[in-house]
Amino acid sequence: MNFRIGFGVDIHQLVEGRDLMIGGVKIESPFGALGHSDADVLLHAICDAILGAANLRDIGFHFSDTDPQFKGIDSQFLLKESFKLVKQKGYKIGNIDCTVLLETPKVNPHIEKMQVIIANLLEVDIDAISIKATRGEKMGYIGESKGIQAYCNALIFKSS
Ligand code: MG
Repeated sequence: MNFRIGFGVDIHQLVEGRDLMIGGVKIESPFGALGHSDADVLLHAICDAILGAANLRDIGFHFSDTDPQFKGIDSQFLLKESFKLVKQKGYKIGNIDCTVLLETPKVNPHIEKMQVIIANLLEVDIDAISIKATRGEKMGYIGESKGIQAYCNALIFKSS
């Protein structure tokens, strides 16, 4: 077996008047993440982790945030396309482990829904998708609800 690991991180500003999309789930919130796409911070971190594991650069390299065709785009499409690139190199996903940093609202009640969506996109069992959430304890841009951030580690493999 040929194993490789990858790491991804993403951050977005929180503003009023935007939907809050995390892991493909729309979460009720007075503010959402600002971005060119639907600004799904978790899916973006996962894209970077799997692309990084396959040494395929990052999400911005493949899907430019100035390209009008990606304006407002569902990030599930970006993850699907990123995974396609990884598959083209002969890899499958082993597992991913993510953490979302958000002060409020609570992410935990939505995690099972996110796991189902992401497992489907990455063609793995739900057990391969770990999502955790933590807060900023009222400190800094997370704690003051100015931003949302996500981290992801990914293991990919191919039989050789
Ligand atoms: Mg992003």
